[in-house]
Amino acid sequence: MVLSPSSSHPINRYQPRVSMKCTLSSNLNAEEKSEISYCLKYLIFGSNVIFWFFGLCLMLVGIWAWTEKDYFVNFTCIRNIALDPAFVLIVAGSISFVIGFTGCIGALRENTSLLTSYAVFLGILLVLELTVGVLGFLFRDWIKTQAASGFQAFIVYYRDDPDRQNLIDWIQEQWLECCGIEGPKDWDMNIYFNCSSAKAGSREACGVPFSCCKPEPNEMIKNKQCGYDVRKSDYAGDKSAVIYEKGCLRAGEEWIEVNFLPVVGISVFIAVLQLTCKAMRKLFICFLIIVHCLVGFEANTEVYTFKHHDNKELNEILQKISKKCPNITRVYELSERSVKGWPLTVIEISDNPGKHEFLEPEFRYIANMHGNEVLGRELLLKLADFLCESYLRNNHEIQLLLNNTRIHLLPSMNPDGWELATFKEGGKDWLVGRANLNGVDLNRDFPDLDLKAYKTGDKTDHLFTQDSIDHNLQPETRAVVNWILNTPFVLSANLHGGALVANYPYDETPDGTPHRYSATPDDDTFRHLAQVYAKNHKTMSHKVEEKCEPDDDEFSKQGGITNGAAWYSVAGGLQDFNYLSSNDFDITVELGCEKYPPAHKLEKEWENNKNALMEYMWQSHIGLKGLVLDAMTGEPISGASIKVKNLTSGRNQYIDHAITSVQSGEFWRLLTPGEYEITVLKSGYEPITKLYTVPQKPKAEALRIIFKLKPNGMFDTKQLYLNNDYGKQIPGNIDLKNPEVLRLFHFLQRENDDRLIRNEDALPLPAAVGA
Ligand SMILES: [Zn+2]
Repeated sequence: MVLSPSSSHPINRYQPRVSMKCTLSSNLNAEEKSEISYCLKYLIFGSNVIFWFFGLCLMLVGIWAWTEKDYFVNFTCIRNIALDPAFVLIVAGSISFVIGFTGCIGALRENTSLLTSYAVFLGILLVLELTVGVLGFLFRDWIKTQAASGFQAFIVYYRDDPDRQNLIDWIQEQWLECCGIEGPKDWDMNIYFNCSSAKAGSREACGVPFSCCKPEPNEMIKNKQCGYDVRKSDYAGDKSAVIYEKGCLRAGEEWIEVNFLPVVGISVFIAVLQLTCKAMRKLFICFLIIVHCLVGFEANTEVYTFKHHDNKELNEILQKISKKCPNITRVYELSERSVKGWPLTVIEISDNPGKHEFLEPEFRYIANMHGNEVLGRELLLKLADFLCESYLRNNHEIQLLLNNTRIHLLPSMNPDGWELATFKEGGKDWLVGRANLNGVDLNRDFPDLDLKAYKTGDKTDHLFTQDSIDHNLQPETRAVVNWILNTPFVLSANLHGGALVANYPYDETPDGTPHRYSATPDDDTFRHLAQVYAKNHKTMSHKVEEKCEPDDDEFSKQGGITNGAAWYSVAGGLQDFNYLSSNDFDITVELGCEKYPPAHKLEKEWENNKNALMEYMWQSHIGLKGLVLDAMTGEPISGASIKVKNLTSGRNQYIDHAITSVQSGEFWRLLTPGEYEITVLKSGYEPITKLYTVPQKPKAEALRIIFKLKPNGMFDTKQLYLNNDYGKQIPGNIDLKNPEVLRLFHFLQRENDDRLIRNEDALPLPAAVGA
C-alpha cells in the first residue's frame, strides 16, 4: 500500500503524468478533428520555422555589420542609428523573428492567442511597409524642403550647440561626404564662417568646418584647420582636392537612391511575398484536401479503423495502442484461454498501468461474451484507441478520468464464438456463435448465487464459496470469475446485442417465474447506473422504434432501462454473480437489435455509444470511498463490512448489501446523492457509525472518509480526544504512562501530519503529548 501524501492529494493527482508533444484540443471531440487540421497546423508551423530562421539570419547579418563598423565600441554613432542599414536589418530581423516565433509556437501548441498575435503582427507589418513606401514617394518634395530648412538651422547654430555640431560633422564627414546644403558657400550663413567676419577677427571667416574636408591619404589625426580660407577668391590650392564641393541635400538624395530605394523594394517584395504565401497556403490546403479525398490520405495516428477485426487483428490492435501510449496502457491476458486457445486479452488504461493506486477505483468493460454479438467488441477496441489518442492530445477531461481511474477492457470474452458467427453463418443466424466452442452459453455458466441470496434473505454480498460451483465451468467463465474475485473492481458493464436497453440486476426471479421485477437492495444505485448509459446513448432512452422481438418490453417507455428479471429470468448470468460475490456493481448493456451489424454501420454506432461509454466510466466515482484502519496500530483492516442505511428524504432503510474493505483497508461504496448512515463492522473491533451526505458532484472524486476501529475492550478513543482540548489538563482517568495510550497519541499525531484523508471529522489533537 502506497500512502504518500502527494499521490493522494487531489491537485497533484489531477496533473497529466505523460509529457505531451503537442496539444490539439481540450474537448471531448478531439478525435473528430480531421486530418486537414493536422496539415494546416504543420503547414503554418513549417512556413514559420523558415520565417523565424530568416529573421534570425537578418539579425545576425546586421549585428555582424555593426561589429565590422565597431559600433559596439564607438557608441557615439548610435544616435544616428535609425538611418543605418545594419540597424534596419537588425530591426527587420527581430520583427521577422518574433512573428515567426508566434506563428510557429502558435501552430504547434494550437494556442489561439499566439495565433491571433501572429495574424495581427503580419497585418501591421504589411500596412506599415506599404504606408511608408507610398508616403515617401508621394511627398518626396515636401520631405526635401523639410530636410533643407532643418539643415540650414544646423549651419546657423553650428557653434552654439555641440550636439548639432557633432551631428552636422558626422553627416558631412562620415555619412554623406558633403559640405553645406547646396555646397560650401552655404557656410556663409554661419556668423563664424561668414567672409565679412574677418574684420571681427574670426580666423574661420570665408572657410568651412573641418568636416567638409576630404581625408588626406594616411591621415592619422584630422587637421582641424584644413578648411580655413577655402572660400576666399584668392585661395591658392586646388579647392576640389581639399573639400567636398557637393551639397548635402544632393548627396542625401543620391544616398536614398542608392540605399533606400532597395530597402523600399525589399519591403514591397516581402509584402507581396506574404500575400502570395497566404494565397499559396490556401491553394496547398485545397490540394491536400483533394489528395485526401482521392487517395484516403491519412495524416493522423489513429490505429483503429471501422471494420470487423478478427482475433489476430484484435490482439495486434491492442499491442499497437499500447505501443502508442506506453505510459498509460498495459496489455495482459486473463488466467485462462478460450477452448480453442485464443488469449482473453485485456487492455488496461490508467496513469500508472499495472498498479493499483491508493483509493483509485477500478473499472471494467467486457464485450462479445456472446460470440455473435459483435458490436461491443469493436466499440471497446475503438474506445481504447480513443482514450489513448485523447490522453496524448491533452484532453483535460479524459486525462482526469485516466489519472484517477484504473480501466480494464476485455473486448472479447468469447473469441471462439466470434469465429463461428463470422465464418460459419456470417452472423445472420440468431444463435450460431452465441455459445463458446463447447456449445455453452457463457452468460448461463456462472455459479448461481441468486438461489443462496434468496434463501438467506438478508445477506446479499460475498456469497461465493468453492461449493457454489455446482458444475464444470467453461475456461472463459473460470477466467472471468478469477478476475472478478481477485481485482477490487468498483463498477463494470457487460456489452451485448439483440435489444436496445441497459439491463440491471437481478437477472433471476426468486421463485422461478419467467418475468418479475426482482430488485437488489441497491435498486436506486442500479437504476441510476443504467440510466446514465441509456440517457447518454444517442437513441436508447428516447427512440420510438419497433421492438427487436415481438415479446420484448417497450424499453424506450422505461427510459431505455429494465430490471433483468422483469424482462426475462436468467440463471447463471454474469451480472448477478458479480454483485453477489464481490464489491463490484455490474450491468448488462444491449447495444442494439442487430447483433452483427455490417462494418459500414460501426462508425455510426460508435457515435451513438461514445458518450454513454465515457459517462458510465465516470460513475465509478459516485458515493463514498475511504479507509478502515486499526486505531491502535494504524494498520489497514481488510474484510471490514461497510453497511449503509439510507436516510434520504425521511427514509430509514438499510441497504442489505455490505461492501467490504480490501487488503489495503480501502473501500468504495457507490451511492446516489443523499443522506446516509454508515456503520463499519469487523469482528474483534467496536463498530463505528457516522452520518454522511453524498453530494451531487459529477466528474469529481467520491467523498473520502476514514474509520479508525478500536479493538474490543479498549478505552474510548473519542473520550480521549474530547478531554484533551488544547492547553487543558488531561483528566486523571487516562493514564499517560500507559504505553498503549502513548502509542495511540503517536499514531494520531502522525496521521494528522500525513493528512491522508481530506474529509475526516476534524477533532482537535492533543498538543505534543509524548513528543
Ligand atoms: Zn448477449
